[in-house]
Amino acid sequence: MKGLVLEARWDPRPDYTVSDWEKRTGKAITGSSVWRDPKLEVKEWADPAPGPTQVLLEIKACGVCGSDVHFYETDPDGYILYPGLTHFPTILGHEFSARVSEAGDEVATLVPGDMVTVEEMIWCGRCVHCRNGYPNHCLHLEEIGFTIPGAFAERIAVDEKYCWKIDAIAERLGDEEKAYELGALTEPTSVSYNAMFERAGGFRPGHYVAVFGAGPIGLAAVGLARAAGAGMVVAFEVMPERRELARQVGADHVYDPATVAPGDVLMELSKGAGFDFQVEAAGVPHLTVPEMEKALAINGKMVQIGRAARRVPMYLEAFQVRRAQAFGAQGHSGHETFPNVIRLVASGRLDLRPIITACYGLDGAVEAIARSGERRDGKILVKPE
Ligand SMILES: [Zn+2]
Ligand SMILES: [Zn+2]
Repeated sequence: MKGLVLEARWDPRPDYTVSDWEKRTGKAITGSSVWRDPKLEVKEWADPAPGPTQVLLEIKACGVCGSDVHFYETDPDGYILYPGLTHFPTILGHEFSARVSEAGDEVATLVPGDMVTVEEMIWCGRCVHCRNGYPNHCLHLEEIGFTIPGAFAERIAVDEKYCWKIDAIAERLGDEEKAYELGALTEPTSVSYNAMFERAGGFRPGHYVAVFGAGPIGLAAVGLARAAGAGMVVAFEVMPERRELARQVGADHVYDPATVAPGDVLMELSKGAGFDFQVEAAGVPHLTVPEMEKALAINGKMVQIGRAARRVPMYLEAFQVRRAQAFGAQGHSGHETFPNVIRLVASGRLDLRPIITACYGLDGAVEAIARSGERRDGKILVKPE
């Protein structure tokens, strides 16, 4: 079959100590310190052969993620920008929907023809964190499209326990193709849902919500805030195209943070009460957190989703005076997250259709990633057919 393969050279930076585990597994814990001169190409790759508890999936749509762009872009020394767990060569792509074409002998919950979306995190279910109910912090994690072959491809084999049916979305839309497109948004939307409702415990209907950054994760957060009954939703985003998308998925007000002081704007909009729930999805917390602090309501919550490997100036006095809380979040697995996102989409209460701004065929996958690097789009999809 064909797939979008990333090859890169294992060439650890002189100041990076390669651990015994990395030597043994060939995986890099900090990809951006190890993988050099990436090459992306759509080419032949061995067909996946499903095991007894796996299903063979025919991929229908796969979204381009910011992390895919960070494999394509390099620093001046030629290292990939993505700082996480990686093993190359592999096929990229991890935000996808698919049709079951074959089910292994021991598969109990899926049959050929089922429409599904799939978790990206292949949690083991055996380590202490998994057993304690925290699959997003699995100690033996594999990641689809990062350490094992992904979904910018014609087919993939995955264990049935990572699949979630999206037939309810198809029933709602009366259109399978559109259902696969929306189904491919489940993974990134679940990242926002996990952060907002599982980790941070959500907000009360009527509360004021601010979202910093309107890339796909921030746009999903805006839609979720609206669906969950926020009294006002405000988004901050530097790109004009994305500000417009934020409006379309439910923001009451959108601003360019380069031209306003967000903290002051939020205090003005709330008539001095502050914002109850603030989401960082911009990945620039050194800029956003000081603004968020200015606008903390009493009991205000801040949740960090954007990734940024740097220290952030925080004024904890503000958290004491406002009895506020900050939450960190990663991942999308467990805690009813995937099924609840699918329910919201199937009910029509969460309508993220506007954020799909372009579709490419599998042969155009490299182009899709390059375009995503311009950071003007919502979500760009690759559709193998
Ligand atoms: Zn992603
Ligand atoms: Zn585990």
